[in-house]
Amino acid sequence: MNTEKVVVIGSGPAGLTACIYAARANLNPLCFEGFNAGGLIPGGQLMFTTEVENYPGFPEGVTGPQMMKAFRDQADRFGTRFIRDDVSAVDFSRRPFIVKSPDESVEAHAVIIATGARANWLNLENEQRLAKIGGGVSACAVCDGAMPMYRDQELVVIGGGDSAIEEGVYLTKFAKKVYLIHRRDQLRAGKAMQERFFKHVEQGRMEPVWNSIVIDVLGDQSITGVRLKNVKTNEQRDLLCQGMFLAISHTPNTELFKDYLATDEKGYLKLARLGSTYTAVEGVFAAGDVADHVYRQAVTAAGSGCIAALDAERWLAERGIE
Ligand SMILES: Cc1cc2nc3c(=O)[nH]c(=O)nc-3n(C[C@H](O)[C@H](O)[C@H](O)COP(=O)(O)OP(=O)(O)OC[C@H]3O[C@@H](n4cnc5c(N)ncnc54)[C@H](O)[C@@H]3O)c2cc1C
Repeated sequence: MNTEKVVVIGSGPAGLTACIYAARANLNPLCFEGFNAGGLIPGGQLMFTTEVENYPGFPEGVTGPQMMKAFRDQADRFGTRFIRDDVSAVDFSRRPFIVKSPDESVEAHAVIIATGARANWLNLENEQRLAKIGGGVSACAVCDGAMPMYRDQELVVIGGGDSAIEEGVYLTKFAKKVYLIHRRDQLRAGKAMQERFFKHVEQGRMEPVWNSIVIDVLGDQSITGVRLKNVKTNEQRDLLCQGMFLAISHTPNTELFKDYLATDEKGYLKLARLGSTYTAVEGVFAAGDVADHVYRQAVTAAGSGCIAALDAERWLAERGIE
């Protein structure tokens, strides 16, 4: 079995940035770039989006797949080796660690986990179709909310937690009005968030739609409305809107590591040192959305991928592995 200096698991912005930095530090990284684990594909979440308009360096915007191809080409240029497979098991109880996919098994002195998270969707047919064609359905208000198509329009946000309020309030900067659709008649969000929400409601910029779920998304080339069902009365009605934002949380891809690494109450990996990518297992580092339920942006994921490679490089050097 080969013993690698560093194995990177995942090929989104965090994983590929870690590969670029590790390769340039002569660590000869091996990247398991994934296949279809966690509903993702090589390149990560951005492979499912059309325009990325907030990543620095692309003043005209760039499509998600184009951007991730550029990340991968750069990692490849410096010598990253890729295995197009999902990691199916790890053993962090021995050293070197073991990382396995269905076809490969390698030993690794250091491992960088960058397996990301996936947005939770309602999984309605027209929701998925419109999200794919950039038809006004999104799982990230911060990423897409400033697009001209949403300006001065009526938008809906689905959810009742902190993220839903955060995203809804953010959208009020651009939208005419934001409806918050929640399946209960009380928010899950914390007190401070609720106060922000109700301030916007008083100002007429937001409006709650309680006890309601979306049962269909309307529109052909772009969304024209949502069909709602009141969960108490079963009554259905259509609410016209020009944009829908999902904020029903994300599922981090951490199942694989649960025997070795602690997660927070939402399932994200816990980091051992604030501001670093160290986990509680020395030599295992975590970068990107898999350990971040707060920021969840390509640029923050890439930044933490860089930190993870630097952390791994220093940790290996301290042990004479260079
Ligand atoms: C539709 C959509 C649009 C978005 N638009 C923007 C935007 O415009 N701007 C912005 O900044 N952010 C945007 N985001 C958020 C951004 O995509 C994420 O913050 C970023 O991709 C996180 O990067 P990551 O590397 O941590 O993980 P991910 O991109 O989630 O990548 C995870 C990687 O891990 C791999 N993987 C998972 N499990 C395994 C396994 N068992 N074995 C091997 N590999 C595995 C996957 O295949 C994937 O390659 C968007 C997100 C979505 C869903």
